[in-house]
Amino acid sequence: MKKTRIEALGEFGLIRHLTENIKTQNESTVYGIGDDAAIIDYDNKESLVSTDLLMEGIHFNLVYTPLKHLGYKSIIVNLSDIYAMNGKPEQVVVSIAISSKFTVEAIEELYEGMKEACREHQVDMVGGDTTSSLTGLVISITAIGSVEKGKAIKRNSAKETDLICVSGDLGGAYLGLQILEREKAIYMKDPEIQPKLTNYEYVLQRQLKPVARRDIVSLLKEHEVTPSAMIDVSDGLSSEILHISNQSNLGCRIYQEKIPIRYEARLCAEEIHLDPIIAAMNGGEDYELLFTVPVTQHEKLVAIPGVSIIGHMTHAESGHYLVPENGEDVKIEAQGWNPIKG
Ligand code: ADP
Ligand code: MG
Repeated sequence: MKKTRIEALGEFGLIRHLTENIKTQNESTVYGIGDDAAIIDYDNKESLVSTDLLMEGIHFNLVYTPLKHLGYKSIIVNLSDIYAMNGKPEQVVVSIAISSKFTVEAIEELYEGMKEACREHQVDMVGGDTTSSLTGLVISITAIGSVEKGKAIKRNSAKETDLICVSGDLGGAYLGLQILEREKAIYMKDPEIQPKLTNYEYVLQRQLKPVARRDIVSLLKEHEVTPSAMIDVSDGLSSEILHISNQSNLGCRIYQEKIPIRYEARLCAEEIHLDPIIAAMNGGEDYELLFTVPVTQHEKLVAIPGVSIIGHMTHAESGHYLVPENGEDVKIEAQGWNPIKG
């Protein structure tokens, strides 16, 4: 593979190289890359803006993350935030800081992944910034989206007795990360040993190529189900349900056996001696949607495929509990900010 030093192109050359083929496709994108600012027009809709900062060594490890996957995932996690507001992402702004260890081809790989995610979700890349870094790769992405006036779904509007629902399955992404970390540790000790990654396809894909649940937002609309509160699962079920509960001034009960965990994830958890419930509750990065729905919509809700009802909201005084089939209720605790996990 060619290895072109960034200096060969310079900042402007690199920007041109990365962005020359980008065509915009949304009506709301009036003007994209090429001027001091992009122009966006959402007419009579509300705009949603969400941003994420990703640091090499904190949020991603390039030892086991292919740059294309990193680019893809860094866009997806931002789009997920817009979907979690019941919105439609339409633009992204991408800023990168790169150290001299990266070649033009490496950054191209990163952008290939970003562009693929944008294509899949019909999102326009409308700008960014490029600078150098002394410590490693930094990626900052801002996603912009639209939602009909008054239709954004926040975290603070769940009601007592609402059903707690989650899309897809949980814990896989964290288990995938454990496998990658395990293989990295083995490789560090003996680079001759080939990483053992077969049989872990499902959890690895959950970690390296997450899905932003646009389909769930559409299905909810189609089935006329209106969540009272919604959030995406980036930090694990514990932390997310506490956000909804605390911001809505309510308690919650989650039934352990209702938490959706894939067979592949259970197998993997067993192998590495980790309780799959811990992976689901405290792992994170599954990017599923967690939402609350009034009980009156129960019938319409159960008609939606790929959604599990895992519990219900309660009065604030009842606290926040995980309820196992047998044994005592377990208090759901905040994980807090973990500078290692980010
Ligand atoms: P400025 O001097 O105003 O910061 P730049 O020369 O940095 O402008 O950027 C020129 C154009 O390219 C702008 O539209 C900017 O948004 C876009 N751009 C710069 N860096 C990136 C990047 N890494 N990814 C996508 N677009 C970029
Ligand atoms: Mg700039």
